[in-house]
Amino acid sequence: MRIDLHTHSRASDGTQSPGELVRAAAAAGLDVLAITDHDTAAGWGEAAAAAVDAGISLVRGMEISTRHAGGRGVHLLAYLPDPSYPPLVEELGRILGGRDARVPVMLERLRECGIEIDAADVRRVAGAATATGRPHVADALVQLGVVRDRDEAFATYLSAGRPAYVDRYATPLTAMVEIVAGAGGVAVIAHPWGRHERTTLDESALAELADLGLAGIEVDHQDHDEAARRDLRGIARNLGLIVTGSSDHHGTGKVGHDLGCNTTDPEEYARLVDLARASAARSGRAAPVPVDRA
Ligand code: AMP
Ligand code: ZN
Ligand code: FE
Ligand code: FE
Repeated sequence: MRIDLHTHSRASDGTQSPGELVRAAAAAGLDVLAITDHDTAAGWGEAAAAAVDAGISLVRGMEISTRHAGGRGVHLLAYLPDPSYPPLVEELGRILGGRDARVPVMLERLRECGIEIDAADVRRVAGAATATGRPHVADALVQLGVVRDRDEAFATYLSAGRPAYVDRYATPLTAMVEIVAGAGGVAVIAHPWGRHERTTLDESALAELADLGLAGIEVDHQDHDEAARRDLRGIARNLGLIVTGSSDHHGTGKVGHDLGCNTTDPEEYARLVDLARASAARSGRAAPVPVDRA
């Protein structure tokens, strides 16, 4: 059983349609795939239909933009939540509104750098994406011939501290952990020590989040080196948290994140599915279940 629990489609900043993503996962020999676009369930329908045809199991999820203790941004993976749960709908609306409002401000900053770029350039590359993001601005810069690829766009203009970086709204992490539980879903922190940042989400912070209903942490991720993975595995054991692994695949949009490059242990996946069932029952919401391969 090969299980990849974190991937993106063109519903956010991946480069494949949800159907293409699912078919690529089946072709890569995966047995279970989770689609986890940033801040939206927009890809779920197409992905679920494609999973049935491709003979792969699909977990419907999303990667939600949050902020811990007013400071650092934290990505929270929500698996199998009811996407019609009103508090979730309201918060995702706020986050998506913040994403859209940020684009013209980033473009203004780029123009101040002498780069002629306008909203139509970004719209063209973003296509039907529900969640617009910096990667779309990066793609527009590539098309205009300003940079070679997304990496160079981030390094030169779009990363925090670079001239076109603009902050945006994100939900407080503790509130979102509770909203995901209320929606009958399961909350797992994505790449908690990504970019070598160990201090915000240390063991005591993770213990507090576990008390609020956090179910797991993503340990096997390309942003974690061997030492980080070992230490996070130890914390998960101490706190009884599920350990997941994933590619965080973005199609061709992120180098070194091929489908299945990290995977989740089948026993950990079984725990996640059990917790999702219990969470759905507790919440009273009509939360989805995995689309299981026939
Ligand atoms: P945003 O969601 O608009 O704040 O943009 C952040 C997203 O950009 C992350 O979730 C990644 O998917 C992507 N990203 C960040 N750094 C890079 C990079 N160097 N190259 C490609 N994509 C990146
Ligand atoms: Zn992304
Ligand atoms: Fe992320
Ligand atoms: Fe991601």
